[in-house]
Amino acid sequence: ESRLETEWAGNPVIYMDETDSTNIQAKKLGEAGGKHGTLVVSDRQTAGKGRRGRGWESPSGASIYMSILLRPEFLPDKAPMLTLVMALAVAEAVQEVTGEAAGIKWPNDIVLNKKKICGILTEMSAEIDYINHVVIGVGINVNTESFPEEIQKTATSLAIETGKKWKRPDLAAAVMRYFENYYNMFAEAQDLKPLQERYNRLLVNKDREIQVLEPGHEFGGTALGINETGELIVRKADGSIEEIYAGEVSVRGI
Ligand code: ATP
Repeated sequence: ESRLETEWAGNPVIYMDETDSTNIQAKKLGEAGGKHGTLVVSDRQTAGKGRRGRGWESPSGASIYMSILLRPEFLPDKAPMLTLVMALAVAEAVQEVTGEAAGIKWPNDIVLNKKKICGILTEMSAEIDYINHVVIGVGINVNTESFPEEIQKTATSLAIETGKKWKRPDLAAAVMRYFENYYNMFAEAQDLKPLQERYNRLLVNKDREIQVLEPGHEFGGTALGINETGELIVRKADGSIEEIYAGEVSVRGI
């Protein structure tokens, strides 16, 4: 049963009871010529993925695991910004559906009460000057009741935080509605300028002390917000400004 109110985001929806990872399946559809906006949804994943080869805990029946296939017409260097477009869409959708103050931890996590309720993983197949396809995977902890020991301190679900169960299709449909709208704005501007203010309002790192952990380089500072290409603007103790690219970076402190 479809609750989608979109033109292309989630058209079609490919539903699976179980799969290895919705990103893997969406990439296969991408290779096979699947159309822009195709959404792969699964009830559970046996090999859910995070960034840098890490895993995404994907228990059965409780959460949203979905990946959207995109065929953008812009250049490959713009694609990483799509992660931020999706983060904004998820945060807005969670706020609309649950009334809870979900926030964004730059660049790709959605948090509630400082704990992670959603992760986003963007993968691309491209030539140097041409995108073949992009896949954006979204894992939202909706009705999950508990997490493994290792992530108990950092992970939570909407059900744990609100004491209520939420309807996954309603939330997924709201994410698609926001995403389609924000994607269209992004694609027209070719940068995040039209979304920058909205993103920065929801940014939980804003005006906070953070630690930036880059391979071989670590420093602290105050996060000021994102710029129009999605880099995080950080003011260091000596007053100098650094703009950090999401690529290999982890940020601590919210
Ligand atoms: P960092 O917090 O270092 O920036 P990240 O944003 O790169 O991490 P992701 O790749 O988005 O992390 O997610 C993978 C990590 O998230 C895992 O290593 C694990 O710590 C944590 N994790 C795994 N499954 C879940 C889940 N269902 N909910 C919340 N957190 C999870």
